[in-house]
Amino acid sequence: MKFNLHTHTTRCNHATGEDREYVESAIKAGMKVLGFADHCPQFFPGTDYYSFFRMVPELAAEYAASIRALQREYKDDIKILLGFETEYYPKTFDAFMEFIRPLRLDYLIMGQHFIGNEFDENSYYAGSSGKTESYLNIYVKQVKEGLDKGVFTYLAHPDIVWYQGGMAYYERKMTELCKDALKKDIPLEFNMLGYLNGRSYPNPAFWNIAAKVGNKAVIGYDAHNPEMLLRDDLLKKCQDLMKTCGVKETPFEEIKLRNENL
Ligand SMILES: [Zn+2]
Ligand SMILES: [Zn+2]
Repeated sequence: MKFNLHTHTTRCNHATGEDREYVESAIKAGMKVLGFADHCPQFFPGTDYYSFFRMVPELAAEYAASIRALQREYKDDIKILLGFETEYYPKTFDAFMEFIRPLRLDYLIMGQHFIGNEFDENSYYAGSSGKTESYLNIYVKQVKEGLDKGVFTYLAHPDIVWYQGGMAYYERKMTELCKDALKKDIPLEFNMLGYLNGRSYPNPAFWNIAAKVGNKAVIGYDAHNPEMLLRDDLLKKCQDLMKTCGVKETPFEEIKLRNENL
């Protein structure tokens, strides 16, 4: 069964297309489940930092209302889910959970784009080059702590860190991350947008480790435009690459949404 739980909207300032166009593309592509997981608002206490690449808090209620309306309207054609993609920032996670509670989301995915956070001196974009052992160490610790919260459906682009350190260390730390996700029964996402854009992820070195550990794996389109959902050619390439690495795709029915704590 074809599905995608990683869809953005224009509210994050770097996606295009109406919400409805994403739904119609998904139906056209033969998907049975479409999850919206736009970049969630984050909070930056004690700083004037402003994030341009995620939704502002003022738009969250309208986002939820729009997706819920589409969910009702298209209920005979496709199952639509309302979610967010969020960072795990230890300092602000409680405030974040407070904020999303009234929205009664169907699910949350974790996408740890930053090591540390994005608003103080301890912040590093995970996907930029030159990340060595010490960064990977913090990333793995932070991800494990986030997954511990018991609220995430899956871990988006687990291999986002553009690592350029020693490979023995990579193998050790990523095995630790994979084992942790396996123990918590949280699938890992093979990110189609990263593949399309030739980013440092999906990283075959990571997926070889995930195959060895035996993780659940999910393809996420990370769609920032409705056309992306129609890219069967890319889907096939990602599936082939996963197969080459020895990773099996997890069917939707075997994914736990974990929305009871949201
Ligand atoms: Zn994005
Ligand atoms: Zn992401």
